[in-house]
Amino acid sequence: MSKISIIVPCYNEQEALPLFYKEAVRVLNDMKVSYEIILVNDGSKDQTLDVMKQLASSDDNVAYLSLSRNFGKEAAMYAGFCNAVGDYIAVMDADLQDPPSLLPEMLDIIQEQGYDSVATRRVNRKGEPPIRSWFARKFYQLINKISDADIVDGARDFRLMTRAMVDAIVEMGECNRFSKGIFGWIGFKTYWMPYENVERVAGETKWSFWKLFKYAIDGIINFSSVPLSLSSWCGMGMTLCSFLVLIGIIVRRLVWGDSVAGWASTVCVIVFIGGLQLFFLGIIGQYLAKMYLETKHRPHYIVSESNRKDAIKIK
Ligand code: UDP
Ligand code: MG
Repeated sequence: MSKISIIVPCYNEQEALPLFYKEAVRVLNDMKVSYEIILVNDGSKDQTLDVMKQLASSDDNVAYLSLSRNFGKEAAMYAGFCNAVGDYIAVMDADLQDPPSLLPEMLDIIQEQGYDSVATRRVNRKGEPPIRSWFARKFYQLINKISDADIVDGARDFRLMTRAMVDAIVEMGECNRFSKGIFGWIGFKTYWMPYENVERVAGETKWSFWKLFKYAIDGIINFSSVPLSLSSWCGMGMTLCSFLVLIGIIVRRLVWGDSVAGWASTVCVIVFIGGLQLFFLGIIGQYLAKMYLETKHRPHYIVSESNRKDAIKIK
């Protein structure tokens, strides 16, 4: 009998977690598979860890890993991937926005149609502010133009994958992790399953608009070097423009003679170019900062407490 591992990153999910557990176990029992549920406590400030301990003490299929602080969802998922032992591995949010009821169909698709992974895609963004949806759509259009990774609009992290695919994800050891890009970059045959957006059952989202914006910039920097070449293109364009303007000035001097006008526009041009230079310096700085972090080879996560004796606690 094949085994399914469900990885659930949790940050302040004390209300949602028991509801998630109940629903997941109901579905998994109906599927007649063996399973493990790996709850990763990502440095929650509420009673999430106590809830996890309770669930683990009443059910042998539940394992918990408690990280030593809030490392972020990406690191929490990575901790889950490193510790999952199932033949098929799924990542799910604790808030029931990723319905466990889709799991049986997802498993069927992998086992019967030869896919390596079934990923989910929201077909609408119900319950989300329109401005956020607009920015999200633009982000996906942009990142697909400028990077190799195939990143699908509306893609969620919720997906069921084979062991081989998860092994590949664990091998991707970068510390600046952007899962949507990593899933796309490693390839494998992926089936996209559309579903209606569901609002979270309890608690609140951890994503402010600003956090999402930074996440989008991180995604672009992690999976594309196009911003780095922008400055060269811009520089070339400006050189060409200044050359044309120079010709204009020479012609004007020869035809109309000279006059001391135009100091205001000169200042504007100086300020504009100064701003542009700082902007591009900033882009280079972003890449440099990422490289700096990568070269330190710090662990992705640190587990401070777990009910699993053989848990991989630092990686
Ligand atoms: N999460 C986490 N660490 C964080 C932020 C979020 O483990 O620093 C978890 C969170 O508990 C949830 C999942 O990641 O299970 C998705 O978070 P959320 O529901 O806030 O995101 P949304 O669904 O709104 O995109
Ligand atoms: Mg959610």
